[in-house]
Amino acid sequence: MSEYQQNGIGDSAQTWPNMAHFWMPFTANKQFKANPRLLVSAQGMYYTDIDGNEVLDATAGLWCCNAGHGRAEISAAVSKQISQMDYAPSFQMGHPLAFELAHKLSQLSPDGLDHVFFTNSGSESVDTALKMALCYHRANGQTSRTRFIGRELGYHGVGFGGISVGGISNNRKTFSQQLLPGVDHLPHTLDIANNAFSYGLPPYGVDKAEVLEQLITLHGAENIAAVIVEPMSGSAGVILPPQGYLKRLREITQKHGILLIFDEVITGFGRVGAAFASERWQVTPDIITTAKAINNGTIPMGAVFVSNSIHDTCMNGPQALIEFFHGYTYSGHPVAAASALATLSIYENEQLFERAKHLEDYFQQAVHSLKGLPNIIDIRNTGLVAGIQFAPSDKGVGKRGYDIFDHCFRHGTLVRATADIIALSPPLIVEKSHIDDMVNRLADAIHAAG
Ligand code: PLP
Repeated sequence: MSEYQQNGIGDSAQTWPNMAHFWMPFTANKQFKANPRLLVSAQGMYYTDIDGNEVLDATAGLWCCNAGHGRAEISAAVSKQISQMDYAPSFQMGHPLAFELAHKLSQLSPDGLDHVFFTNSGSESVDTALKMALCYHRANGQTSRTRFIGRELGYHGVGFGGISVGGISNNRKTFSQQLLPGVDHLPHTLDIANNAFSYGLPPYGVDKAEVLEQLITLHGAENIAAVIVEPMSGSAGVILPPQGYLKRLREITQKHGILLIFDEVITGFGRVGAAFASERWQVTPDIITTAKAINNGTIPMGAVFVSNSIHDTCMNGPQALIEFFHGYTYSGHPVAAASALATLSIYENEQLFERAKHLEDYFQQAVHSLKGLPNIIDIRNTGLVAGIQFAPSDKGVGKRGYDIFDHCFRHGTLVRATADIIALSPPLIVEKSHIDDMVNRLADAIHAAG
């Protein structure tokens, strides 16, 4: 029995009071509130819902909780920090933990990306990165470099910068008159017709990176500030970079003095079997954006990793001048910093990034065993992340994905649905038996959805 049931307020989610007042993000509010799914506690690989049912977490919350739930080390660090000092500003002031965390992160990041700017979310990390690119070119005297290039189906959060470089049309169309000017998009790299059910990175498609040369010819390199891509698109349904694609983007951007930004809000901190996707696929960008698993999702926090050359160029002005007119009240928040330091220790002590790599083959076999079930048109995976794509039902795009997600939840497993793609991204502490359970339950849901 859950604590909520003991208190007499939770025996049915429908009796939950005042549900109307929370305008829920990225949710069909009316549909949700008619038949809610409420989580009330979490430990290890499991949530508990309001009715006391265990729910296997196959999505690490929302791609965040890579060390699993209820980690005592993180709670202890947070509670110690709140009692010692609840808040300290990072504007014209500092506190030791933020510096210690930046130092630790710089040891984890790819060589040469040794400077860290703290934010509170992935969206803020992205907007910070875009502004940094402009700041860098201006400091370098290249003031005409203001254009950005994103990619179709890219998700870069919900700030105006992020939705402008992002390529998910539903996130853009309501705001389409007010997006950043001077943004182009590379083609996405999803190619189900040629690559369906391929293992690991798709074998071809690197020509999609060549489109960048065409955009550069069209606009002039001297007008382009940066290219931003997710090394692996997460939110659009686990779209992997074709072999050689990221390397080619790096070569082209470098040749033209254009910055390359990798948005690693999902791929950062172990998801693809290395600390960062840039490490896994051996391509180092100029800027990396992160959030989510940086502190196991415990407290809002993000971080932008910046190359030494960008940092040093921006620092080149007079001593008493603020170099970058940008920052957040909670940048480097002491409690968030404490939670991140505790999280990084867990990752290191339990070798969770290596564990994700080690379990990759098992996970791959398990998810690919779903091939042949009704309506599956593609399965993609790397590290401990997979996307299973379904043909849309004749009742509309997203209906099948939602039905499978809802069935999984009602039968004790949390998966993620975007349109008709189901994503799995379990905490990196996952055991093989959990992988079997999540895949079996997903198979049941697929049969039930028909
Ligand atoms: N960038 C990427 C690649 C993401 O996947 C996300 C969120 O899923 C974001 C940015 C936005 O992060 P947040 O929701 O923390 O603002």
